[in-house]
Amino acid sequence: MLLVGLTGNIASGKSTVARQLAAHGATLVDADVLARQAVRPGTPGLARIVARWGADVLAPDGVLDRGVLRARVFGDPRELEALNGIVHPEVGRLRDAAVAAARARGDAIVVCDIPLLFEKDLAGEFDAIVLVDAPRTVRLERLVHDRGLREPEAMAMLAAQMPAELKRARADYVIDNDGTRAELAARVDAVWEALQERSRRALP
Ligand code: ATP
Repeated sequence: MLLVGLTGNIASGKSTVARQLAAHGATLVDADVLARQAVRPGTPGLARIVARWGADVLAPDGVLDRGVLRARVFGDPRELEALNGIVHPEVGRLRDAAVAAARARGDAIVVCDIPLLFEKDLAGEFDAIVLVDAPRTVRLERLVHDRGLREPEAMAMLAAQMPAELKRARADYVIDNDGTRAELAARVDAVWEALQERSRRALP
């Protein structure tokens, strides 16, 4: 099995690339899905969140309202650290379990979408790393126009990220998402070909 880490800064196009790799046949392990699983009703993670931030972070159906929680921790590094301390270890366990299940099934190429792959020092866990990168101006535009963030907030989010140059230097494949969706799709196809080749070579 070829274990691939997929990463990129915010609004670079990671999810779009992840969906395309999955459509080609990769097994996708998505950090966002795992983060939701980690705090689903009945989990110790959700209980700890409610104990710290109060029951009004829950929607009427008992599911975590991520928007309300985000507003509580936004801009306060200590609160954010506390939240990450609850969620991240559980996400790591869920990821390990998903990868182990894929390995047991005999899946050929498994892609883990991990926004903070380099920041969390996880590079060594993967056979290959794919970075999606887009110019800062494009990412800012997406955050403000597609997601409705205010510009100062969006700029602060971009400034808080590890510089793309450092990530580019450490990735095995860089997908530049600075053009149209069709151009992006063609670049993803090329990387998929390369991953398949690598996976075939890795066979005993
Ligand atoms: P996040 O880090 O916030 O999860 P992401 O890196 O996963 O974001 P996507 O959600 O894939 O990024 O892309 C951000 C937005 O930009 C989406 O609305 C997506 O449809 C759009 N997008 C991505 N690539 C292109 C492109 N080449 N042309 C036009 N729109 C694009």
